[in-house]
Amino acid sequence: MLDYDLHCHSTVSDGLLTPTDLVARAAERGVKILALTDHDDLGGLAEAAQAAAQHAVQLINGVEISVSWRSHTVHIVGLHINPEDQALQAGLQSIRNGRGARAQLMAESLARSGIGGALEGAYRYAANPGIIGRTHFARFLVESGHAKDVRSVFKNYLVKGKPGYVPHEWAALADAIQWIRGSGGVAVLAHPGRYTAGKKPMGRTTLRELLAEFAELGGQGLEVVSGSHTPPQYAEFARYATEFKLLSSCGSDFHGPGESYRDLGRLPDLPLECQPVWQAWEDVPVPQHQA
Ligand code: AMP
Ligand code: MN
Ligand code: MN
Ligand code: MN
Repeated sequence: MLDYDLHCHSTVSDGLLTPTDLVARAAERGVKILALTDHDDLGGLAEAAQAAAQHAVQLINGVEISVSWRSHTVHIVGLHINPEDQALQAGLQSIRNGRGARAQLMAESLARSGIGGALEGAYRYAANPGIIGRTHFARFLVESGHAKDVRSVFKNYLVKGKPGYVPHEWAALADAIQWIRGSGGVAVLAHPGRYTAGKKPMGRTTLRELLAEFAELGGQGLEVVSGSHTPPQYAEFARYATEFKLLSSCGSDFHGPGESYRDLGRLPDLPLECQPVWQAWEDVPVPQHQA
C-alpha cells in the first residue's frame, strides 16, 4: 500500500466531502501525502492546507483540467502547482465559464426525454455552482429514480448518444500543460484507461499518439495507478510511461463514500520500473520502499 494519493475531489468540484473532511478521511486511512485535484478549480486548496496541517498530512496543490483533444475529452492533472499563478487561474476561469451554458443544454436535452427539473436538481448538488457538471446531474438522476446509482447513470444518460449528452469544447492540451508548467507544476495525463472513442475504449494507436503529443508539449507524467484501473492496466501503463519517458503517478480519483472505484489511500504500489512523480519534489520525502 502506498501512502501517496495524488488524485481526489472535494465539494469544490464534484466530490461529496468538503476539503476539510476529505483530508481528515485521508489521514484516517493512512495517507501521508495527498493531492487535492478538483476539476478546473483551485478553490479548495487553502482549506485543505489548513486541515492537512492539523492531521500531519502533506498537501500537494493540485488540479484536474478538462481538455479536448481531437474528438476526445481527456483530463490533465497538475501536481505541485502554484494556486496563486495568474495564468493558471485565468485559464481555469475560462473553462468554468463554459460549464453554465453546457448545463443549460444538458437540462434541455433531458427535458426532451421527459425528465424535467434537471437544471435546478443538478445545481442542488453543486456546492460550487461554477463547476456544475455531469456528476451533479447524475446525482439528481439517481434521486429522481432514473438510475440506481451514479455509476449506472453513465450507461444510459449524459454520454454520447444518450439523453443529457452535450458535446463541449474544453481547454486545448497545449494550454493546459502550459498553465500547469508555467505555475511550477507537473502535468500528468490522468487515468489513461478511462478514455473512450464513442462507446468503445480509446484504441492503443490513438492513446500512443496522445502520449507522444502530450510528451512533446511538455507533459511529464502518466497516472499509471488509478482507482479506475485494473492490475493488468497498471502493467500496461507502466510500459507506456517507460516508453514515453514519463514519470508515474498514482491516485484514487476518490469522489465520495460509496461513489468511487476506490477509497482514499487504498492503492497498490507503482510497478517497480516506474519513476515516481514525487522523486523530483525536494520537499516530499521518498518512502523507504522506494528509496
Ligand atoms: P464533466 O467534467 O462535467 O464532464 O464530468 C465528468 C465527471 O463525471 C468525471 O470527473 C466523473 O466524476 C464523472 N463520470 C464520468 N464518467 C463516469 C462514469 N462512467 N462513472 C462514474 N462517474 C463518471
Ligand atoms: Mn469527477
Ligand atoms: Mn478525470
Ligand atoms: Mn478525477
